[in-house]
Amino acid sequence: MERYPCNVMDLIDMFPTEDACLEYLSLLRWPEGYTCLRCKSRAYWKKARGLFCCRDCEYEASVICGTLFQDTHKPLRLWFQAIWYIVNQKNGVSALGLQKALGLGSYHTAWEWMHKLRRAMVRPGRDKLSGLVEVNEMFIGGARSGKRGRGAEGKTLVFVAAETIPSGIGRIRLMPIENASGAKLSQAVLQTIEPGSTLRSDGWDGYNLLARQGYVHQSTPHKDSISGDPTPNAHLVASLVKRWLLGTHQGAMRPEYLAYYLDEYTFRFNRRTSRSRGKLFYRLIEQAVQIDPVPATLFAPATTP
Ligand SMILES: [Zn+2]
Repeated sequence: MERYPCNVMDLIDMFPTEDACLEYLSLLRWPEGYTCLRCKSRAYWKKARGLFCCRDCEYEASVICGTLFQDTHKPLRLWFQAIWYIVNQKNGVSALGLQKALGLGSYHTAWEWMHKLRRAMVRPGRDKLSGLVEVNEMFIGGARSGKRGRGAEGKTLVFVAAETIPSGIGRIRLMPIENASGAKLSQAVLQTIEPGSTLRSDGWDGYNLLARQGYVHQSTPHKDSISGDPTPNAHLVASLVKRWLLGTHQGAMRPEYLAYYLDEYTFRFNRRTSRSRGKLFYRLIEQAVQIDPVPATLFAPATTP
């Protein structure tokens, strides 16, 4: 049963109290009902503040403990408002935008929440791409141009994979890679695309090893391509990502966090046709209770832009 708010009035009605938020988190974390984390008993009673107590061994578990919401000092209602706001902004939101929208006193809190939620945007054990997939690489950041085979200084090389379907682009995956060598590209493909899929690339020989790994590889050098671009979908995704990083985030992300920004873009892109924003709200909270807590110490204080 997927129960989620359809509009902001629903959001207010569904979550008037902290208890209502805790109840929602417990339904999403334990859809089959709570099972004791220690003895697996299904008999429990609920205590205040989202605590579940086992009737057999008396072990107590908190619904937020071991999730993204662990150790939060802010009300869950505020988190829910933040998540609602984030999924309803078609082009995403910067930390500063979130801080203003929620009236948060601290920029750092907004910044940290965005980073935590980005980690929940990747579903644990998500599917790999399949079918016909265009693959390419792009550089992000830095001023100097770089050579493809090696990493360029100040820039991050990103692997781009875009499913090609009759109506255009299906799902995408984006992943920073060290360089465009055969070994690194093979690793990226194996992590993101099902063997048996057809890879379409330009003439770069970094993808040649993949035929041996169970992929069909169609390699067309630019000069031999009828349109002049053998991977137009991968190129389109690359330019959209760059525009998004420059527009929504003003290109201000730190390189060590780039992977998480790319996860956010992927989350938004792959759900761009979803008519219900409420479903995205549901999905993000569902994944937030499935992932491990993100320790605040991972985040050095950010400076206000
Ligand atoms: Zn127990």
